Amino acid sequence: MTKIKTRYSKQRETIYHFLQNDYSHPTVETVYFHIKKTIPDISLGTVYRNLNLLADQKKIRRLDIGDGCVHYDGQMIPHHHFVCDVCGQIQDIQIDESIVRDFIDETQKTSQDDIKDVDMLFHGKCQHCINKEKEHQH
Ligand SMILES: [Zn+2]
Ligand SMILES: [Zn+2]
Repeated sequence: MTKIKTRYSKQRETIYHFLQNDYSHPTVETVYFHIKKTIPDISLGTVYRNLNLLADQKKIRRLDIGDGCVHYDGQMIPHHHFVCDVCGQIQDIQIDESIVRDFIDETQKTSQDDIKDVDMLFHGKCQHCINKEKEHQH
């Protein structure tokens, strides 16, 4: 019993550690692909269960960018996101908290609801895609 428990928590720890050091906002499939290198006999279902458990415990966060996949984010410091409309890459965006607060306060004036927080999702073209386009023009 103890042995099984240790194994489970070790799996979760490995997944958590991976996300702490990954800034790509991976899907469950991508996490599974990387974790398999460390724990070859782990299943996709186990990875999925652990990700959801970590998210429920607020150790990681789930991210929905509207592409039909759930992305996972190990960074819990308040931040926002930029998604490239060409390649789908997700990047972190830091916005000064006082600006965010002002934005929420302004928005609050237009609403009867109690607005607590905002998750901003910026769209556009990433540096990599801009450079790729330039290369093709030459
Ligand atoms: Zn891109
Ligand atoms: Zn993020």
